Amino acid sequence: MATLSEAQTSDPLVAVVSGGASGIGAAAAAALTARGVRVAALDLTPDEVAAPAVGIACDVSDDASVRGAVAEAVERFGRIDIVVNNAGIAAQGTVADNDDEEWRRVLDVNVVGMVRLARAALPYLRRSPAAAIVNTCSVFAAMGVPRRVLYSASKGAVHSLTLAMAADHVREGIRVNAVAPGAVDTPWIQRVLARTADPRAERDALNDRHPLGRLARPEEVGEAIAYLAVDASGTTGTVLAVDGGIHDLRL
Ligand code: NAD
Repeated sequence: MATLSEAQTSDPLVAVVSGGASGIGAAAAAALTARGVRVAALDLTPDEVAAPAVGIACDVSDDASVRGAVAEAVERFGRIDIVVNNAGIAAQGTVADNDDEEWRRVLDVNVVGMVRLARAALPYLRRSPAAAIVNTCSVFAAMGVPRRVLYSASKGAVHSLTLAMAADHVREGIRVNAVAPGAVDTPWIQRVLARTADPRAERDALNDRHPLGRLARPEEVGEAIAYLAVDASGTTGTVLAVDGGIHDLRL
């Protein structure tokens, strides 16, 4: 595989961000842009992507769609240095509530979707002088939270995937890390709260459950993603908590 020319090495880095139209993905796109990275936001709703990131239609549960989106990003920007595997969907209930089809649907987006995008981008990452993958995990990967068995298992898989991919590609110079947010004030959480009987009381309770006393802002998680993708040149195989202390602190 050809390496980048001298000129390409000094050109701006290029990132693909799945789920980059909303919430954490949009904040990651903005934080990467602030670091001089050109961003293609791969999303089901590419028209909702905020400039200067470029929206590209992509369904991470469809391999042909992912390969097509990666090809389009390369056609547009000429390279890919950074993959932010962020697209994810929610699931609620116990093992009694979700049938096989629902398990396949959620794991197909939350886990295999990350594999698909990494696989499609890998040939380009291998040519990059600064290759990095950042996966969006969750505190739920390592906590027992009631009625979240499928979502938690999917994020547990993202945690393992991050460590295994970091080991596989470290000798190629590709760093693989993850962020593990607690509750983040994105449209996702706003939808969850809106479905409750008393959204304001639920929000207060959620704020209280975090030792910092509040949900994270999407920008705080976006900064952590951009830090791992661009600045943390000596870091691989790390899952960085951005959760107001909920994973370890007991007050
Ligand atoms: P969000 O709903 O605001 O944004 C998710 C984006 O992903 C949307 O733009 C959506 O169109 C896109 N998307 C969904 N399915 C897709 C698919 N199949 N292909 C391509 N794009 C798809 O959600 P968010 O809160 O920003 O969550 C982003 C990630 O952060 C998810 O992986 C989620 O599990 C994780 N996370 C969120 C929280 C939280 O509290 N919000 C906490 C921990 C982890």
